[in-house]
Amino acid sequence: MVRIRLNDRTYEYDVRSLTKAFFKEEDMIVEDMDNIENAIDIVEDDCIDEYIFVIDTSKDSIKLDISNKEKDIHQDLKETLPSYIKNIDNELDYKAKYKNYLKRLIYRLLADVLDMELPWGTLTGIRPSKIALELLEQGREDNYIKKYMLETYLTSEEKIELALSIAHREKEILDDIDYKNGYSLYVGIPFCPTRCSYCSFTSYPLDKFENMVEDYISALIKEMEYASTMIKNKILTTVYIGGGTPTTLSASQLERVINKIKELWDLSTVKEFTVEAGRPDSITREKLEVLKQCGVTRISINPQTMRQKTLDLIGRKHSIDSIEEAYNMARDVGHNNINMDLILGLPGETLEDVRYTLKRIEELNPDNLTVHTLAIKRAAYLNIYKDKYEDLLPEHVTDMVEETFRYAKEHNYIPYYMYRQKNMTDNLENIGYARYGLEGIYNILMMEERQNILALGAGAVCKFVDYENNRIERLDNVKSLNDYITRIDDMIEKKMKFSSGKGAYFNGIFR
Ligand code: SF4
Repeated sequence: MVRIRLNDRTYEYDVRSLTKAFFKEEDMIVEDMDNIENAIDIVEDDCIDEYIFVIDTSKDSIKLDISNKEKDIHQDLKETLPSYIKNIDNELDYKAKYKNYLKRLIYRLLADVLDMELPWGTLTGIRPSKIALELLEQGREDNYIKKYMLETYLTSEEKIELALSIAHREKEILDDIDYKNGYSLYVGIPFCPTRCSYCSFTSYPLDKFENMVEDYISALIKEMEYASTMIKNKILTTVYIGGGTPTTLSASQLERVINKIKELWDLSTVKEFTVEAGRPDSITREKLEVLKQCGVTRISINPQTMRQKTLDLIGRKHSIDSIEEAYNMARDVGHNNINMDLILGLPGETLEDVRYTLKRIEELNPDNLTVHTLAIKRAAYLNIYKDKYEDLLPEHVTDMVEETFRYAKEHNYIPYYMYRQKNMTDNLENIGYARYGLEGIYNILMMEERQNILALGAGAVCKFVDYENNRIERLDNVKSLNDYITRIDDMIEKKMKFSSGKGAYFNGIFR
C-alpha cells in the first residue's frame, strides 16, 4: 500500500500516475493533510508495511518525504521553486511548468529510493509521440526536441529516439491529408467467437449471444441512418470496422453492414477502409471476398502468438494452421494490406516463444505488424490463471519488446504510431509498424486525436476535436449489448442534442 498525503490536490492526478508507475503492484490511496510536520508524525503510528509519501507544495517550495517503517526507508527532498516558474504570469503556463517540475522532483526521489528508472521518465500519459509531433509541427529541430524531452520529462534516449522517429513518419503522413476538413467513421461489432481471458473490450461470445446479432445490426443501421446526416461540410477520410471481431458476422450480414455504409456515406474521398478480421476462427473465403468486393483496403488477421499452448491457455479456440490458412486465403482473394497483431507478455511465454512467433510471421510477411504489450497487473494474473500463477507470469518483457523492435527494423517495418495504456507491463508501449506507404492512417488520426471520429455501435466513443481551443469532446454509447439494442433511440437523441446544443458551433462540423 502507498498512502499519498497531499496539502493541495491541484496536481493529484499527475502525482498519482507517476507514483503508480514506480509502485505498479501496490494499492494507492490519496489523503489530505494540514501540514507536513503533522503528516510525517502520523507515519510513526501507521501500519508499518505501508509507504507514506508526503507531498507539500506551495508557491515558494516543494517538500517531499517518503518512508516505510518495515523496510527502514526514510528519505526527503526539499527544493525552492526556481524563479523561472515563480515569475510566470499566465496561469496555464505556470501550472504546466509547476507540474513538470514537481514530477521531476518526485521522479528523482522515487528513482533514488527504489533504485529504478522508468524508460519514459515522468511521462505518464498515453501518447508520448504527441509531444514530439507537436514540436516538429512548430518547426523545431530534432536536437531541440531531444533536449526538451530529456530535460522536461527525463525520458531515456532510446525512447526519445522512438517517439521522434514515429513523429516524423506521422508528420509525413498527416501533411498529405486535409484531416481538419475531414472526419473518420468507426463502426463497432461487439461479437467474438469466444472471449479471450485477458479481454478488456466490449465483446460478447457468439455461442451465447448469437440470437442478438440481427437485433444488433438493426439497431446499428438505425444509428448509422441518423449519424450519416450529422456531419456537414466535412469529407470522410477513413472508415474502420472494429470490435470485437467484425468477421464474427456471417458473409451476408457483413455485406449488409458495409453496403449500408456505402449507401449512406460518400466513400469517394476515403483513403483507407479497414476491417479488423481479427480472429482466424471467424474468417472464411466468402467473407474475405465480400470485404474485397465491397472496397475494403486493409484488414487485420491477428495471431497474437504462434504458440499453440498459449492460444489454448488464453481461450482463443483456433489453431496455428488456421492463422496461416486465413492469411493465405486473404492474399489469394487479393487483400494487399494485411496487419497482424502480436501480444508480448502473454502467460507462460518466454523470449524464445516470441522469437519462434516472429520466425513464423516472417514466412507470412504481413504488411503491418502491431506489437502490443499485455496491459495486465500481477494481481489480475492471479485472478485469471489461479492454478498456475507462478509458472505463467511472463518475465523479460522488455527484452521481448527489444526483440520485436530489432525484427521490425531488419524486415523494413517502420514504426508509425504508438500508445501506452495504464497498467502496462513494465511501463512499456504498443507500437504499430508498417511497410512504407501501407500504414493504418486511421490509427494515427485516432491515436494522436487529430480528427473527428464518428463512432457507432455498443461501447463506441465519438471524439470531436476543437482545434481552436485544443480540446476533445467525447460522446459515448452504452457498452451493454442489451442496453444498446433497447435504448438505441436514446443513443440517437444524445447525438442529436449534442450536435444542436453543446456541439452546435463545434469546429463548424454540424453546420
Ligand atoms: S478477439 Fe479481441 S475483442 Fe475478442 S475476446 Fe479476444 S481480445 Fe476481446
